[in-house]
Amino acid sequence: MNVLLIGGGGREHALAWKLKQSPRLDTLYCSPGNGGIVSIAVPGPAEVSDHAKVVAFCHEARIGLVVIGPEAPLVDGLADDLRAAGFAVFGPSAAAAQLEASKSFTKAICAERGIPTARYAHLANREDALAYARAHGAPLVVKADGLAAGKGVVICETLAAAEEAIAACFSGAFGAAGSSVVIEEKLVGEEASFFAICDGTHALPLASAKDYKRAYDGDVGPNTGGMGCISPAPMMTDALSARIMSEIVTPTLQAMRDRGTPFQGVLYAGLMITGEGPKLIEYNVRFGDPECQVLMLRLKSDLLTLLYAAARGDLSGVSPQWSDERAVTVVMAAKGYPGDYEKGSVIRGLEEAGATGGVTVFHAGTKLGANGEVVAHGGRVLNVSALGRDAADARSRAYAAAGKIDWPGGFYRSDIGLRSSRGAGDS
Ligand code: AMP
Repeated sequence: MNVLLIGGGGREHALAWKLKQSPRLDTLYCSPGNGGIVSIAVPGPAEVSDHAKVVAFCHEARIGLVVIGPEAPLVDGLADDLRAAGFAVFGPSAAAAQLEASKSFTKAICAERGIPTARYAHLANREDALAYARAHGAPLVVKADGLAAGKGVVICETLAAAEEAIAACFSGAFGAAGSSVVIEEKLVGEEASFFAICDGTHALPLASAKDYKRAYDGDVGPNTGGMGCISPAPMMTDALSARIMSEIVTPTLQAMRDRGTPFQGVLYAGLMITGEGPKLIEYNVRFGDPECQVLMLRLKSDLLTLLYAAARGDLSGVSPQWSDERAVTVVMAAKGYPGDYEKGSVIRGLEEAGATGGVTVFHAGTKLGANGEVVAHGGRVLNVSALGRDAADARSRAYAAAGKIDWPGGFYRSDIGLRSSRGAGDS
């Protein structure tokens, strides 16, 4: 089968790496790819926002499955247009992608189906939002309703901070995403990322992960897209996973079916594990990045079979198998990230790093320079990933490899997989 993979981050390099291991794969195409993906996939259509061109490419290249990695093309309806043209697609329709694109949409589903989540209000103007915040008092969490590239959420410990966040939203700090806000109670507990693969009717739990969102050691500094990850999430148990499936994932899937917009793809639940049990913070409608990287390292089953079964609407015959080993990913980012950073610096030592036992280095924001050298081309640039018998073993392999990478323009956290200041264990 020929496969077209859409995206160009570390998540897609990990998906490409795993798809390449499939005995069912003929040719893997990727758009736009990155400096690592080009060595294992053939370039696909240059521009994925032109859906007609992607459809034409799929006809020409006789594509059997399209896998859409990032949220933007999903929200933009790429899966809809490809399905309308008869292609099997892994990834939800634009209507089902609202679970990520609109926080108020997801909150309304939670309210309708009794799914545990933070108490909230959806407010369409500044005055109502301020009145709600003053009536409830701090702490509060203020969120731009729409997609704001992970930046539209402010945890407000004081009323003044909440007022400021509301003012920022309604004065256009997040563009159209902030034309209404969701204000929530602040949940207390430990966060976990939970993934379920869905075929529209059924969902299968995938492995769990814990990511590290803050830029610097000890969970301080600005929020980022993710500076590292460990799988499984230290606090995850079979009982907790079963509870998340029955209280959160399954009722969501049922609600989406009942609305006539079944969800097919990966449902990624961002959770707070509170004293009362798991509560939904948010949904994403695709694999997390860097969570995907640790999941792909631990997945023992054929990824192509799994994604194709979900795309065809029938997961009944598959059951993904996972390695008992731990996986750790350390993100190497460009100095300055998540603020301003430079592009174009040369990265050396990747081969030596990749030769470390148990280690795979996924590329995120890289491209190939004029002489074939790997250069930094984004904020999060490399994902140094390792499997080990326990967290300490996986950590030491990943950090040994990271130490072999010669890139003065980069930095990384040194505490990924360690007990964090917010209480995550490294069991
Ligand atoms: P979101 O984009 O909704 O996932 O929010 C980004 C981050 O903000 C989450 O990963 C949490 O760390 C935090 N967060 C969001 N909502 C809440 C909440 N109600 N209580 C506590 N923390 C939250």
